[in-house]
Amino acid sequence: MLERHCYNITGYVQGVGFRPSIYRLAHRLHLVGFVQNSTTGVIIEVQGEQAVLEKFNQLLPTSYPPMAMVATISRTTIPSQETSDFTITPSERSGDLFAGMPADMATCPECQKELFDPHDRRFLYPFINCTNCGPRFSIIKSLPYDRDYTSMKTFTQCSLCQTEYDQPDNRRFDAQPNACFTCGPWLQVVSNDNTVLPTENPVATIVEALKSGKIAAIKSLGGYNLCCDAKNETAITTLRSRKKRPHKALAVMFRSLDEVKQFCSVSAKEAEWLLSPIAPIVILNQLDHSCLPKSISPDTSTIGAFLPYTPLHHLLLSQVSPLIMTSANQSDEPIVIDEEQLTSLLGSIADISLVHNRAILRRADDSVMRLVDQQPLFYRRSRGLVPHALALPKKSPDMLACGADLKNTFALTKNDQLYLSQHIGDLKDYPTYSFYQDQINDFKNLLQVSPKIILHDMHPDYVSTGYAQSLDAEIKLPIQHHHAHIVSCMTEHQLKDPVIGIALDGTGYGDDQHLWGGEVFIADLKHYTRHYHFEYVALPGKEEAIRHPERMAFSYLNLTFSPNEALNHANTYLPNLSSAELDVLRQLIPKPGFSPLTSSAGRLFDGIAALLGFTGPVSYEGQAAIQLESLVDPQIKTHYDYALIGSEISFQPMITGLLKDRDQQLAVSTIAAKCHLTITMAVTECAQKLGQQSGIKQVVLSGGVFQNVYLLKACIKSLSNLNFQVYCHQQVPPNDAGLALGQAAIGQAILS
Ligand code: ZN
Ligand code: ZN
Ligand code: FE
Repeated sequence: MLERHCYNITGYVQGVGFRPSIYRLAHRLHLVGFVQNSTTGVIIEVQGEQAVLEKFNQLLPTSYPPMAMVATISRTTIPSQETSDFTITPSERSGDLFAGMPADMATCPECQKELFDPHDRRFLYPFINCTNCGPRFSIIKSLPYDRDYTSMKTFTQCSLCQTEYDQPDNRRFDAQPNACFTCGPWLQVVSNDNTVLPTENPVATIVEALKSGKIAAIKSLGGYNLCCDAKNETAITTLRSRKKRPHKALAVMFRSLDEVKQFCSVSAKEAEWLLSPIAPIVILNQLDHSCLPKSISPDTSTIGAFLPYTPLHHLLLSQVSPLIMTSANQSDEPIVIDEEQLTSLLGSIADISLVHNRAILRRADDSVMRLVDQQPLFYRRSRGLVPHALALPKKSPDMLACGADLKNTFALTKNDQLYLSQHIGDLKDYPTYSFYQDQINDFKNLLQVSPKIILHDMHPDYVSTGYAQSLDAEIKLPIQHHHAHIVSCMTEHQLKDPVIGIALDGTGYGDDQHLWGGEVFIADLKHYTRHYHFEYVALPGKEEAIRHPERMAFSYLNLTFSPNEALNHANTYLPNLSSAELDVLRQLIPKPGFSPLTSSAGRLFDGIAALLGFTGPVSYEGQAAIQLESLVDPQIKTHYDYALIGSEISFQPMITGLLKDRDQQLAVSTIAAKCHLTITMAVTECAQKLGQQSGIKQVVLSGGVFQNVYLLKACIKSLSNLNFQVYCHQQVPPNDAGLALGQAAIGQAILS
């Protein structure tokens, strides 16, 4: 007796070779029917004897291709039909749900082998790819994922490619960007006056330029990269000055894992991430004898390393390696993706460019992460990971979570899935804000949603808040910044019961209109109570105090000491503040209109860094704190005093102790360690007290300050020693780039 079963599979199942693997399984079992991409994921209909269908059902989960991630699977029995074969049928474009849209994937090992095989027909072809690798997110116009709806539409496959594409047992079966020398995209070299340079071998021309110290713009996967020889100090300095990026670390692309190991220590887990299809930038410790120029990463001893993730990178790096590889843009603007924008970089930043004619439809900067106790800690979740869905606690109507203004990402939700955008950037820059708006509309179209619920940060002056207010929506909900941080982390770990939440952060708008950022909450998805916070201190001149850590240091001195003592300490340890500036600061500090109060942990780190010798304005966010962390002597186990006064955690005793140590000329590496441990002890004691009062055993750590790995590890250790279960971010960044996840989960909880 024949039966027919219909499967509805959702998740990350398109563009990963899912249909061919189902096709092979069905053929093996001699079942008939079809498999099809749909807007919900994948639909399978199989028909045969009941026992064989059960066999199919049993083998199905083991047949998923390596990159697939199934979210839900349902099976129903439907009437059998006249069918004689099992086929892969064209995609269905109706339906109202979103399929797991695939992320861009690094060139797989098989394609790498063919790329360098002189006998292969794609030997040295810069756009080689297959079902398991290649561009996805960055070339998709609309869903479902089919060649006709990608930027590959303009390339008609030659008969050889078409045959591969049509044969279910071929590893290029249904590989949408499939291409070769005959039919696919091709390269061109463009010189700095924006004219096409005639050359037989574009890759060789660029390699020559790089070897001679030039800066090249390379059209990559989610945008252009700027690159130069990573061993050429002059080229790096030129790149930095042209890009107006004096200090922030630059990523280095290495030819191979073996080459990375010549410069950095690489654990097995780190190697796994480097070699993964995500191919993120992994922050690694440099070996003592590493001879890479200090100018790559002047503030730390780490290197952001990654491996080639496109065939073009492999071709370049096989001839010149390692290379500095950074997003092509003017300082903080969105990454350049088309030839029109490239024009503004040529001549001003890049000397030469390697372009091609496969359009990039969507930006995706490189993802950045490091490993902490074997677990991933993301600094930026972008290429290779976006648009993978994240799970929400439950289903709810479609929502838009606007994120925050710094390191912005936004999120759209559909049922119980959340789609966090790629890295957008700082919204205060107009080009970034316009990218933000475009991308939200783009995600709405892809997902086919028009959310009537908007979540945004509580800060009235945020650009993202203004954007939310401009939208037409039934419900707009302001969400407290640090509650969103904590719930973001809770959601990652599927925590629903109240937790002790420690949010150490830059600044976020608080309920009392002060700028919070050193907060200890008891929180669940819906509520939070602020039990402890860092003592308020003036932020003299607002943004100016964030740009100038010395101003923050003086504000701390002013809080801790009498006016005269504060001045004396400032003259000794903050020599760059002139007496005129000190005068201005003293007038500004008492004026709330010019100097809002803040409990920010980030600002405390800035102040400490300045008292330990950090001078001048920061050239990128977090620079002073990053330098401070790199100073730490890990052998030191002592700390300073602090005081818990009511709900305030006062670090005045630490400032006093620090200056005493400075007076006694104790090593700054020792003082830096003691300060980190003081903050660790203070928040640990708060958690301990709250744990005793409430019985809560779970502590959640979030906020941008937890990008500081020394502090993060110290907190995990001291809290674990008190038998707390400690949770930190592993899927989204602890900084504001993870905020939208928390906003959405809170919105859901409040509105249900
Ligand atoms: Zn491949
Ligand atoms: Zn071809
Ligand atoms: Fe924040």
